[in-house]
Amino acid sequence: MSKTVFMDDLARVHVLDVARRVGGKRRLREHSTVFISLDDAAPSVDVHLEHRACWRGGRQSYFICPTCGSAALILLFDPMTSRLRCRSDWPELRYRSQERGQRRGDVIANAVST
Ligand SMILES: [Zn+2]
Repeated sequence: MSKTVFMDDLARVHVLDVARRVGGKRRLREHSTVFISLDDAAPSVDVHLEHRACWRGGRQSYFICPTCGSAALILLFDPMTSRLRCRSDWPELRYRSQERGQRRGDVIANAVST
């Protein structure tokens, strides 16, 4: 079995999930930090929030990624480092469907070259 980690398998948390837990987006904007507990395997951590003015008006809340400090709507739990990371910390991360597409491409290329 490959040890490749796929996007599909990772525990993740979206800002809207947290907003739902605290009673809505407006309530979420009253907080500068949220306590995130994904599951038994993942450590619980405090994550800072940033509330930015939105081009449509109103404000959009973001997590401040504990790994790189960027604003992110989604944080993913990295089982290798036991840390929350945003998608941009992980350029190599792929969905299973993308991997299947890649393999199919390789097979076709091999068939053509022989
Ligand atoms: Zn990050």
